[in-house]
Amino acid sequence: MSKTVSHEIRLASHATGMPEAKNFTLASVELEAPADQQVLVRNLFMSVDPYMRGRMNPGPSYIPPFGLGLPLEGGAVGEVIVSRTGQFKPGDIVVSNLGWREYFLAPPQALRLVSREFQPLSVYLGVLGMTGLTAWAGLNLVEVKSRDVVFVSGAAGAVGNVAGQLAKLRGCRVIGSAGSDAKVRFLQEECGFDHAFNYKAGPVSELLREAAPDGIDVYFDNVGGAMLEAALETLRIHGRIIACGGISGYNETKPRPGPANLFNMTTKRLTMKGLIVRDWLDQQDAFASEVGGYFRAGRLKSKETVVTGLDQAVGAFIGLFEGKNVGKMVVQLA
Ligand code: NDP
Repeated sequence: MSKTVSHEIRLASHATGMPEAKNFTLASVELEAPADQQVLVRNLFMSVDPYMRGRMNPGPSYIPPFGLGLPLEGGAVGEVIVSRTGQFKPGDIVVSNLGWREYFLAPPQALRLVSREFQPLSVYLGVLGMTGLTAWAGLNLVEVKSRDVVFVSGAAGAVGNVAGQLAKLRGCRVIGSAGSDAKVRFLQEECGFDHAFNYKAGPVSELLREAAPDGIDVYFDNVGGAMLEAALETLRIHGRIIACGGISGYNETKPRPGPANLFNMTTKRLTMKGLIVRDWLDQQDAFASEVGGYFRAGRLKSKETVVTGLDQAVGAFIGLFEGKNVGKMVVQLA
């Protein structure tokens, strides 16, 4: 077999503040024919995610930083083109974590077989993938139950809209915040949220208090900062917080002071639990069964913002910090 020409995106420089196009470079590579126990995969969709921003910093993080001059990693769905292992055959659809490239060679243990049943295949990056698993894990982490009043920030994004929809399926009252009136309509009209507000329309503590005059039981935090302060103020006694993300601070150049009203943790006997989705990978089958079942039955919507072409991936990634996505941001490659 001849060599395969592939394009990939590499980290050209570490980011300070908001990432910029100059932090990335597009490169062309020639892949050798697969060796024994190797698989050649052509990516169909790849994921861009806010957590990747932390990996663009030079220092250590809870996951290793991206290497300078190396292709970026991240979730992707691809098709097996050539397999030199009995575990996969051409045409199989696989999920990997090798991200920002058109083709790649990998050993079989770096690939997870998924079914073509669910379409578009990009759902394996969203509702039925890492962000869906994050939403499901977060609700399980603090045992969200029927009649809880649940507030989700970043609610129109990949994790947020699924967290809200799953909470509704559990019989909760669900409130969401998002950064535009169009996103608010999406939450109420398409995702079934009971109430949603545009957090840019006024002080968030007032907007949340209006949405939940009797308080909230659970806060699914994707944003941190002022939103977390508003939630601390609004949570009821014994309320629970899912500490999932803090996107409002990812591009800060200096550490920010913590919430000014943290003492609510004490006075209201609150619980705040940190969530890292990687810790839940061993529950992938239970997740796929429950959430895949909802999706198959049409009870869970999949919303995606799709951009086309590897050369659009950097813009899609930066767009996450500008609120350009509704639902999961994915890059279609083929
Ligand atoms: P999203 O699809 O939600 O995309 C990011 C969204 O964040 C944007 O669309 C934008 O929506 C919002 N946003 C951007 N900047 C700000 C800001 N300064 N203040 C408030 N909102 C902002 O991303 P994901 O669903 O993939 O991730 C959501 C959160 O969950 C992130 O914090 C992410 O890091 C975290 N996460 C954590 C995981 C874990 O294991 N703990 C796993 C996966 C994700 P808007 O227009 O509404 O502002």
